Amino acid sequence: MIYDVVIIGAGPAGLSAGLYAARARLSTLIIEKEAAGGQIATTDEVANYPGSIEHATGPSLVARMVEQAEEFGAKRVTDTILSVDFSQDVKVLKGEKQEYQAKTIIIATGAVPKHIGCPGEKELTGRGISYCATCDGAFFEDLEVFVVGGGDSAVEEAMYLTKFARKVTIVHRRDALRAAKSIQEKALKNEKIEYLWDSVITEVKGEGLLESIVVKNVKTNEETEIFADEEDGTFGVFVFVGYDPATKLFEGIINMDGGYIITDDNMKTNIPGVFAAGDNRVKSLRQVVTATADGAIAATQAEKYIEEKF
Ligand code: NAP
Repeated sequence: MIYDVVIIGAGPAGLSAGLYAARARLSTLIIEKEAAGGQIATTDEVANYPGSIEHATGPSLVARMVEQAEEFGAKRVTDTILSVDFSQDVKVLKGEKQEYQAKTIIIATGAVPKHIGCPGEKELTGRGISYCATCDGAFFEDLEVFVVGGGDSAVEEAMYLTKFARKVTIVHRRDALRAAKSIQEKALKNEKIEYLWDSVITEVKGEGLLESIVVKNVKTNEETEIFADEEDGTFGVFVFVGYDPATKLFEGIINMDGGYIITDDNMKTNIPGVFAAGDNRVKSLRQVVTATADGAIAATQAEKYIEEKF
């Protein structure tokens, strides 16, 4: 079968694209290698998605997006795409399980925040460890927060977190920030921000909630365990050590900048009939709200492309 639209990735961008494509009566398949949801599936509370006033959990929001896309007729399969052939009008995806053909492709593979890679990090993600200040900052009202990293993201998000946290400490592995000078200057003026230079977090600990972190000075190799204030019982660690867009499959085929897919405002890539949506593309804000918007635009453009081309 040749689908009208095949969407790679079932995060908010892919599910939104699926909903719009299926609602336009296009035969639509969403392929996901793991469980649906992408990054948002690991967020405990989604407080900033418009309309989500009951503060849906990431998984419940995803479940509703899946239900809605399927209600309109989008099909879903679990498979890992291993290679793509976009050289003809009908595009071909080779998966681990089977081959897929489509008139249009929407790449909604997302991006993955890099992790510290220390013991306890996985278990305490969503329980004190976060990779998204916009999503989770408000949960740390008047608590202490540590930010890992020294790039633009770490420093900008540290400043954002001072709106909530009573103190923000940037833990950076060197003694100079990588962030742009203009961003650094603003941060240095912020009295709520402190710095732990030449330091890396080697372990995070806690029973159910983050309670302490072990910080190593990379110059002296000295390790110090920092405990949450007794009255608070917990604190936050926000990790901004870079992101990896999930776009390896498309290297040399789709135009990219630093691994992120380049699109125009209509989500078109350099290949006619191939669109990208969500966190894997060059853009200024990576949030559920912008991912779903991308998905909607990509699907409506795919519909237009099919009308004109086939
Ligand atoms: P980034 O620029 O790659 O910075 C990552 C930071 O994390 C660096 O300071 C790096 O340290 C540190 N790091 C990397 N691996 C680490 C590890 N394993 N342990 C501890 N620290 C580690 O990433 P980003 O800040 O997310 O920015 C990504 C891109 O988006 C950049 O091009 C950035 O300019 C752009 N951006 C722009 C803006 C803006 O213009 N307003 C805002 C956000 C992001 P080292 O410095 O020692 O390498």
